[in-house]
Amino acid sequence: MGPMVRAAVAGLPVYRPGRPAPLGPGGVSYKLSSNENPFPPLPGVIEAAEIACAQLNRYPDMGNVAMTEALSAKLAVAEDRLAFGTGSVAVLYHLLQAFCERGDEVVYAWRSFEAYPIAVQLTGATPVPVPLGPGWTHDLDALRAAVTPATKAVLLCTPNNPTGPALRHDDVLAFVAAVPDRVLVVIDEAYAEFVTDPAAVRPMEITAGHDNVVLLRTFSKAYGLAGLRVGFCVAAAPIARAVRAAALPFGVSVPAQAAVIASLAAEEALFERVGQIVAERERMVAGLSSAGFDIPAAEGNFVWLAAGPRTQSYADTFAAAGVMVRPYVSGDRWDGLRITVGEPEANDLVLLTAADLER
Ligand code: PMP
Repeated sequence: MGPMVRAAVAGLPVYRPGRPAPLGPGGVSYKLSSNENPFPPLPGVIEAAEIACAQLNRYPDMGNVAMTEALSAKLAVAEDRLAFGTGSVAVLYHLLQAFCERGDEVVYAWRSFEAYPIAVQLTGATPVPVPLGPGWTHDLDALRAAVTPATKAVLLCTPNNPTGPALRHDDVLAFVAAVPDRVLVVIDEAYAEFVTDPAAVRPMEITAGHDNVVLLRTFSKAYGLAGLRVGFCVAAAPIARAVRAAALPFGVSVPAQAAVIASLAAEEALFERVGQIVAERERMVAGLSSAGFDIPAAEGNFVWLAAGPRTQSYADTFAAAGVMVRPYVSGDRWDGLRITVGEPEANDLVLLTAADLER
């Protein structure tokens, strides 16, 4: 017998990314399965990354110095409260590795981001999923009730991937007040820039007043840099330091750092695109609702179709039309499809296809 994989790892599901759609009848296909930004990077961002490529023989700046300075200035957050990683998923892994071990529990809503149970199990800690409440949103009372003396962290996802609703500011404040401050409260706001609900949580304000609250952000979605893999956290300085200590050395590449700095300088143009994606999201929600679907609040760059037992057949129908969406099939009442808001032609095709779906 060869080397034994740790039991916690042997039992892990392997993350399945969205696959490209086969060509539809129109000779085109659209990938609406990974919550990507449909816009290509801005020319200035590509240029900055290309210029940085001239230094690919060198390791990146391990301290992420210039990127940290730029982000600190942009967010008005002290540099020692920031830590970066190879996507926000890496920051989450590093955070959990720094704080969790066997015997600890990590509470999170389910269904939510698929990486949560994996990240928790890799540390040896026990995942404690808590079913979503009505409206496909977090049941904060149930999450609070799931906190035990063994709980090390609670993961909140707002807007929730894959279902869409954002948490409310007052509710999260009350939740944080009710949870002991030895528990990390991680607010994953990968889709923050797409939120339009004025009552939605403002995690930056909460982390400023609560040293156990960590917020996770990414350059993959609104900033459209998914292929470069950069995410970060904002946390109390000792927590951010622990994340840096646990991080892979040189995790953010040379072109990625350059593209992030250029993107922070180009936010106006990038957020104008975010506005277009939000407008398309509203068009998609309106179209799907008038086709008879009950769509939960969509605050990210995606919509949730609660298709239940028809989930796989709907996904197949979309695929045949040339649209790859993300089906979630577990055979339970949480089954459904997540459809990323894409380019207008892709969204047109979604609406056209949805109108003919069997109910
Ligand atoms: N959090 C949530 C809720 C997500 O949906 C994603 C990406 N699908 C991530 C974190 C990770 O993003 P990245 O690693 O690209 O920064």
